[in-house]
Amino acid sequence: MRFILTLIVLLSCSQMAHGQSTKAKFAVIAAPVCTNNLGQQVQFETVASARVKSAAGMARRDDAGLPVVYRFGYEFSPPALQKFIDFHECAHHQTGDVDRPHPPRNSPEHMMNESIADCIAALRMRDEIDDGRSLLTEAILALTNAMTDAGFASLTTDSRVSNIENCMQKDTSPEGFINGVLASWIEVIPNPKAHHATIVRSIFPQAREALRGHLFMAMFGQEGLI
Ligand SMILES: [Zn+2]
Repeated sequence: MRFILTLIVLLSCSQMAHGQSTKAKFAVIAAPVCTNNLGQQVQFETVASARVKSAAGMARRDDAGLPVVYRFGYEFSPPALQKFIDFHECAHHQTGDVDRPHPPRNSPEHMMNESIADCIAALRMRDEIDDGRSLLTEAILALTNAMTDAGFASLTTDSRVSNIENCMQKDTSPEGFINGVLASWIEVIPNPKAHHATIVRSIFPQAREALRGHLFMAMFGQEGLI
């Protein structure tokens, strides 16, 4: 299936006063500018969902074939995390992930796609927003809380955060990083121990670094990864 589902997590309400059981609500931010790898403008659509407890996104083409990011539950997550998810989903369009067959869930290629999308989101927050590093730090905290509340193993959360923090330090622009990803090629490596071949991007430096963190997730079989 040609879509990428982003994190669906519960948002803790423990910070609310008086032990209220209602969920915290936040203003929903304006969608960012997003252009895919073919130069098409990506639309953002808000979708009501009773199941979602925290901001989540999905990047795909709609029934008319137009590139779109669906936004779920944004009112339940702080603006910093909303922004991060918008950029993460946009990244799946920028890298062309949306137009390739979706790799098996939690496979190395899936994890690498997620790491790369996180990396692009981190670089865009850093470089395209005033005081972006602070906002990214807020997003990381909100993401950590959300993943913890949703029951992710700390190793999974730590690995993801570590990848994002490494990306934040990269001496490259978002455009430079994306161009590196687009210039890579896909390699199929038969894996006799698995039921499917392992599909790996050519090992250009960005991908190798991004892959390293998320291989942990694949190895430990975490699910629900973004
Ligand atoms: Zn993703």
